Amino acid sequence: MNQAVETRLSHLRAAQRCGARNRAGRPCECPAIRGRARCRLHGGRSSGAPKGQENGMYKDGYFSAEAIAERRWAKSLAAGFAGTGKDG
Ligand SMILES: [Zn+2]
Repeated sequence: MNQAVETRLSHLRAAQRCGARNRAGRPCECPAIRGRARCRLHGGRSSGAPKGQENGMYKDGYFSAEAIAERRWAKSLAAGFAGTGKDG
């Protein structure tokens, strides 16, 4: 954390920009948290909503990440057997 101000500013300038929409309908464009798509003000450090039954919107698990991934996998298998070699 003892870098020169110029170095730190250059890192900020090179950082990916936050894509959250502001009140004017434009992207926020603050520097995003490292490895993330959002800035510190727009949930960049958040791990997101709870997964699975922890989530308040959970009903029957049909739309859980695992269920969606499983359907995608089954669909790709079916596409492979059909000989298209593509999804859908
Ligand atoms: Zn932002």
